[in-house]
Amino acid sequence: MKSLGRLRTALGERSDYDAVAQCSRCGYCEQACPTYKATGREAQSARGRNQIVRQFLEGKFEDPSSAEEALSTCLLCGACTTACPARVPTPDLVLEARREILGQPEWARRLLRHLLVVRPDLLAKAVRAGFALKRMGLAGLAAKTGLLRLLGLRALAEADAHVKETPERTLAEALREDASLRAGPDAAWSYFAACGTNFVFPRVGLASLRILHRVHGRGAFLDNPCCGLLAFNYGDLETARELARLNIQRWEDRRSDAPVFADCSSCAAFLKSYPQLFLRDPAWRERAEAFAARVKDIVEVEAPVRPGVLPGLVTLHDSCRARHGQGLFKEPRAAVKAAAAAFAEMECSDDCCGGAGLFAFKHPELSEELLRRKIGHAKAAGARTVCASGTSCLIQLARGLEKYYPEGRVVHWSEAVCEALDGSDG
Ligand code: SF4
Ligand code: SF4
Repeated sequence: MKSLGRLRTALGERSDYDAVAQCSRCGYCEQACPTYKATGREAQSARGRNQIVRQFLEGKFEDPSSAEEALSTCLLCGACTTACPARVPTPDLVLEARREILGQPEWARRLLRHLLVVRPDLLAKAVRAGFALKRMGLAGLAAKTGLLRLLGLRALAEADAHVKETPERTLAEALREDASLRAGPDAAWSYFAACGTNFVFPRVGLASLRILHRVHGRGAFLDNPCCGLLAFNYGDLETARELARLNIQRWEDRRSDAPVFADCSSCAAFLKSYPQLFLRDPAWRERAEAFAARVKDIVEVEAPVRPGVLPGLVTLHDSCRARHGQGLFKEPRAAVKAAAAAFAEMECSDDCCGGAGLFAFKHPELSEELLRRKIGHAKAAGARTVCASGTSCLIQLARGLEKYYPEGRVVHWSEAVCEALDGSDG
């Protein structure tokens, strides 16, 4: 079966059709949807997308591929669900329709599974090799000469242009060597290394670990594989389930009820949503529910900070999967507001920045428009520091600030809080 078939909604568990039938076409979500605001096109709004999904489920599509643009341009940000009186789960419905209508080549699915499940060491080697080439300027050269585009690797060319940081070691490699992070009965928490933190932003992981040590004492590294979000969004439910089982098993092996912290909001939200993967599998569903109940986004930590020590005006970009995926709004603000010399909200703080995982690479023009708007709001607020909690947001906002507002900087929530941590040497 290509899709889940059933979804968890605010009104309880529903079939895909019953979930989409909850949309009354009222339009309350229109002004919350970033792609609708940028394009003005009904097909690129939540209401339009829900109608496409409904028509598909009713068998009214003669050519389902005509829905491709509307479905593939959805950011899966969830702003529509937050704004919707019926809390229609549009991102889940869009993903279900993508799995049924769009599909993915079998070779790509096998390769993804091989790299994420069977040989994650190969993935780490491939990323390291790519970063080494980038440091030597070769990847940039291939992108600049148009070689990657000529080879049909447009998304790779875009990715190369976006990722600026190229660490020589992964975070996991460093943490495995740290004896103080080994599992044990005295570990008060576990740390889940998200792929973005692991490969691109090890510094974010180190900041998160300092906060966790300061607030909760000793903890352990989970030494986890990918959470499965990449496979899930790519349409490969089986690989997503396989990774979910591996992560749940690893947590169970610890025989500890301690919380599991993740510092990419997209991963934290996905780990919390594991039960939805197993709605038809009672045994794994129960295990997934026990695991998901222990997962925390790092922004939920109540960190003690020295007041007013973050310089300049600070603002917060709500990463979609923190705000809309987990309903976290006050939590990320508490420590940042207390630590900032001055704090101001930016307009549309919970609009997607256009990063959205691979979206920025697949839809560069639309992504750029969303980014331009986001940076415009940060600039209008007069912010010198923008805090975010999604690793995809960090990549996207760093690029946008460099281009449209070089006076500003972006930092992960953990880095900002770590900079101001009380009882630490900063
Ligand atoms: S998704 Fe919700 S807010 Fe949007 S049109 Fe449907 S019912 Fe209304
Ligand atoms: S998930 Fe985001 S982009 Fe997709 S329809 Fe909802 S608000 Fe629009």
